[in-house]
Parts: sequence; structure tokens; C-alpha cells
Amino acid sequence: MTETIETVWQKIIERVNSEKSSFSSVFINSIKPESLENNVLTLVSINEFARDSIVKRYEKDIDLVLKEFSPELTYKVIVKANKKNTKPVQPTLPTLSEPDIKVATKSVSQKYDSMLNSKYTFDSFVVGKSNQFAYAICQGVTKNPGSLHNPVFIYGGVGLGKTHLIQAIGHEILKNDPKAKIAYLSSETFTNEFINSVIREKKADDFKKKYRKIDLLLIDDVQFFAKKESTQEEFFHTFNELYQQKKQIVLTSDKSPDKIPDVDERLTSRFASGVVVDIQPPDLETRTAILMNCAKKSMVEVPEDVIMYLAQGVTSNIRALEGAFNSVLAFAGIMNKPINKDLVDQVLKDMLRETAGGKISINWIIKRVSEFYDITEAEMIGKRRSANLVLPRQVAMRLCQVFTDSSLNQIGEKFGGRDHTTVMHACDKVNKMIKNDSNFSEEFERIKRFVDPNK
Ligand code: ADP
Ligand code: MG
Repeated sequence: MTETIETVWQKIIERVNSEKSSFSSVFINSIKPESLENNVLTLVSINEFARDSIVKRYEKDIDLVLKEFSPELTYKVIVKANKKNTKPVQPTLPTLSEPDIKVATKSVSQKYDSMLNSKYTFDSFVVGKSNQFAYAICQGVTKNPGSLHNPVFIYGGVGLGKTHLIQAIGHEILKNDPKAKIAYLSSETFTNEFINSVIREKKADDFKKKYRKIDLLLIDDVQFFAKKESTQEEFFHTFNELYQQKKQIVLTSDKSPDKIPDVDERLTSRFASGVVVDIQPPDLETRTAILMNCAKKSMVEVPEDVIMYLAQGVTSNIRALEGAFNSVLAFAGIMNKPINKDLVDQVLKDMLRETAGGKISINWIIKRVSEFYDITEAEMIGKRRSANLVLPRQVAMRLCQVFTDSSLNQIGEKFGGRDHTTVMHACDKVNKMIKNDSNFSEEFERIKRFVDPNK
């Protein structure tokens, strides 16, 4: 391995910095590298908020950078409290306990962990109008697993608490019966395991044994079974076997069973054969309660008007709400600012910019085109002129002309301060290629859709 902790960290910083939002400066101020050993990069965060909100936000970027160095590289984040909470960490402070480390560890290969997250319990779940039925059904399941409601199917949009609830069932059943054999996994993990063990390694028996002999099967996000016909077939048998043995099955999805595309009807009709319950976006009251809960857990004094302001400002889902809350606290702690509405405004502005529906920005184009060509955003706007960077850069510039009202000068500015003639040349070149090279022209259309899926 030739990479050193400095070079890896430098690349991460470059990537994070290419976004230029207030989050990137918080990242740089609050996260430091500590060691690079046995293919694990250990990062230290000065507090939990920075770890949960800021690192999470750049999870994909860190993964991408690590992957560039080696597919084996992974990272973990540990929290080491900083006494003043304002300066970067001194590496001499005590380390945190194991569970915290586990929760934040993530493999570059995107393997999903089958572990239950210790935070997702019934106790930490705030019940409101939008989720009270789902909550009641899940509680009922833990009292009479396998007999009262089976299967249970929970559906709803992202960040509304499906994963939290399904895992809470796992925790509760384990509490009542520590020997219970529980499998919690997403349909993606199920698919990957199926492909690896049954198709690649020809160990169908092992796989069957593993999943057909459990007491509780929790499958998250079943919509990812879409188009995986042989996995669906296997899951169908697993499902039937467990169901006949009166083992409890709980499933979640982003849509109701009848609306999941590309999943066999005999499977979706099984999904719908027990109780189907949805979770709605939280109302203001629930959002406020969730934020008060966050505040209590954080042990930081958060003024009531700030809580109200945040609850009014973030309406879409609970993950976004928690994210905004954590960012406000992280900003306050790291930048040493008071927690007030101004700070909330700053955080919300960044969030809005990110999710601004419809309007496509130059930054967005840079981000997506870099993703498409698998280069970093720093490389996209950087000075290097190697062939693998020049074409993506020119394509991105042309797309800025297509999608935004920006002038050539403004576009050049965003691409590392290049002048307008460079942009003009790039656009001409791409236009010529579109005319003369039908393969490229198709690729360009694909990239366009990648930048704007509505097109
Ligand atoms: P989904 O699986 O529906 O996308 P998650 O279960 O991952 O959503 O929830 C997103 C985040 O919001 C998690 O951190 C979770 O703990 C939190 N959350 C969701 N619903 C609630 C709730 N009712 N009370 C407290 N936290 C919640
Ligand atoms: Mg989920």
C-alpha cells in the first residue's frame, strides 16, 4: 500500500471543499484523520453531531476517495470530545465505547450491515398522528410474534421512520427472548448474499439453512427486489417456509404492495396478505416533539423559538429534520456561535440549495457530470489537463450553457476561474462531437438525463 494518511486526507479535503458550502468548512474544522492501519482510515470527530450530520453528509464522497486509492480501504469515525468544543481535536483524549464506533463504521464496498442499530428502539420513537398506527401494529407484533399480524408490511416515503420501527421490533423481541434468532437486512443485502452464496459459491443449502431457520425475519426496503427474478423466487420460498412455521415476518417499502414495480405479483400479494400500514409525513406537532427529543438527548440548551422555527422550516421528513437539528448544533459548537434563528437560516439555506427542485445549478452539473465520469469534483474544476479530465470538463461546461442562464464568464468562474474563451471553445467542441460522432451524441443525451432526470 503506497498511500499515506496525509495523501488520503488531502484528497478527502479536496473533494469536500469542492462543494463550497458552510458544511464543508464545518467538516474541515471538526473532523481530523487519526490513523491509517490495516486498510482502515480512522477519523476523529469532535462531537456526535459532527459525526452524525457532517460525516454522514460526506459519506459518499469519502467512500469515493477511498475507493480511488484501493477497493479494500474502509473508514470509521470515532468521537473524541474536545474540552472547549471549538478547536480541532487533540489526539490524546479518551476514545469512545465500542457501540459508537460500530454505528459509524462503514465499508467502502457498500456492504450493508445486518446488525441492529442500538438507537432504533421503541423508546426513542416519537409517536404522532402520522405514525401511530404503524407504531401500534409493530408493538402488537412484539407481544404475539407470528400469530397476531403476519406478515406486517410498513410503507412510506424516505426518512419517515420505517427502518427505525422495523428495527425496534427486533430489539424488543430480543429483549423478551435473548436467544431469538433474528435476521434484519435489506432486500439488497438479501440479493447480494443470494448471488454470492447460491449463484457464485454454489452453497444453496447454507443459504437456505440460514434464512429458513430463523424466528423473526425483518426485511427493509423490499422495493429493491425489483427485477431480481431469481432472488425473488428464493425469497418467495423463504417467505412461505417461515410463514408456515408461524414465524413473524415484517417488511418495509417505499410504496404499498400493489404499487411496487417489477416485483412478481405472487410475492406482492403475499406481502399484502397480513397487515399493511403506512407512515405519513410528520405534522407540526410531531416534528416539534421529535426536535424536543433531540434537544433532550443532546443535553444542549436549545431555545424554544429555535425548535419551533426549525419544525416549521423542515417539513418533508424526519431524517431531514434531525439532520438540520444536528447541523445547527454542530455549527454552533464548532464555530462557537449562539444557537438562534440566524443559525437556523444559514443551515436551511444550505439545505434548500441542495434540494432546490427544478432549478439546475452549475454546482449540481459539476457534481453529476463528475459522478458520471467517475472523477472527483476537485479534478473536474482543477488545473490538470489530462484527456480523462478534459472531456468531462468540456461536457459539463456545455451542459451549464444548456441548463442555466449563466454567462460564459460565470461558468468559467465556477470551473476554477477559467476565462470565457475557454468555455466557448469547450461548448463548440462538444457541439461538433455531437454532430459528428453518434456514439458520443448518445452518451451526451445519457449525461443530460443524468443531470436532469425530468428531461
Ligand atoms: P426510513 O427508513 O423510513 O427512510 P428511518 O427509519 O431511517 O427512515 O428514519 C430516519 C431518521 O429519523 C432516523 O434517524 C430515525 O431514528 C428518525 N426517526 C424517524 N421517525 C422517528 C420518530 N417517530 N421518532 C424519532 N425518530 C424518528
Ligand atoms: Mg429505511
